[in-house]
Amino acid sequence: MQDVHRQDVHSGDGDAEIAPALLAWYRREGRALPWRAPPGTLQDPYKVWLSEVMLQQTTVKTVTPRFIDFLRRWPDVDALARAALGEVLAAWAGLGYYARARNLHACARAVSEQLGGRFPDTEEALRALPGIGAYTSAAIAAIAFGRQASPVDGNIERVIARLYAITVPLPEAKPQIKALAEQLTPATHAGDFAQALMDLGATICTPRRPACGLCPVRPSCRGYEAGLAGQLPYKATKAERPTRRGSAFVAIREDGAVLLRERPPKGLLGGMLETPSTPWVEEPPSQAAESYAPLKASWQKLPEIVTHTFTHFHLELVVYRANVSQRAKLKGVADPVRCRWVMQHDLRNAALPTVMRKVLGSALTV
Ligand code: SF4
Repeated sequence: MQDVHRQDVHSGDGDAEIAPALLAWYRREGRALPWRAPPGTLQDPYKVWLSEVMLQQTTVKTVTPRFIDFLRRWPDVDALARAALGEVLAAWAGLGYYARARNLHACARAVSEQLGGRFPDTEEALRALPGIGAYTSAAIAAIAFGRQASPVDGNIERVIARLYAITVPLPEAKPQIKALAEQLTPATHAGDFAQALMDLGATICTPRRPACGLCPVRPSCRGYEAGLAGQLPYKATKAERPTRRGSAFVAIREDGAVLLRERPPKGLLGGMLETPSTPWVEEPPSQAAESYAPLKASWQKLPEIVTHTFTHFHLELVVYRANVSQRAKLKGVADPVRCRWVMQHDLRNAALPTVMRKVLGSALTV
């Protein structure tokens, strides 16, 4: 059996065809997306940065209306820097991975206040900004500044692994894939090349059933030639996600307001709003759930368990609901300083993560 950790892959004659074929295809078939400039032109770095941060872990379909909304509210980096963090978090709600929104705001402030509102034009200087890693810095450098840079995300990794028939599993293959992507990137039109790879991965070289019959680089594809197209890239088996459990308390005041609490600024969903809740733990809790209730009330346990999956764990929440009087006093066990009453018609614009929208959805419909 082949030692999959020692695969030698060299560029070959066919590789010279890949960039021209992909660039020609991109000019014909590239997706028109609201954050894109036409092929052959450079894009405003603010739009590239904003879209790339939004697109991490989120689909084009979900991002498109949010991107348009962000751009309408904050048309440039200085406008975004002037916004309050709470406003940005609220506009971000539903996109998930909220650390990205906090970093987005911090980065806007850094660019606006320290760099006169101009994004730097090298990968290295971009990477020094909050929330900008290797992928985003390379994407901005290539697409906004025409640098010969190679952003490699999961989609591009898949395309490169197939083009070169890389059988080393991920994540071990990452450095090799990155090196091959750099080798393929042309000196000019690197931004179009990166976007062509993104589009190929999204529309033709898709995870399960690549449409090799429509692929502009099929003559150079070793994965196709080896009959491995749909199987690559191989992945090392991942540890199972653990399940954490907890309880959430939805207190509804006589006037219809709901009690919410701001989460601590750091950590998971930092700075977002939640209904007061118990800690989320894997072990059976040491204290009864009701002891975490924020108010003395007649709490009703709802039959439906709310579930949500985060990157590193599944969450199951039991939801308690209570109607409380206008004069209800916070018990003090649930960090009352961070608690506030929010009218139900204002919930739509509140900085509530998806899991909390599920909790409220289950409690406010009964
Ligand atoms: S030929 Fe198939 S596997 Fe190879 S890059 Fe094209 S779509 Fe992907």
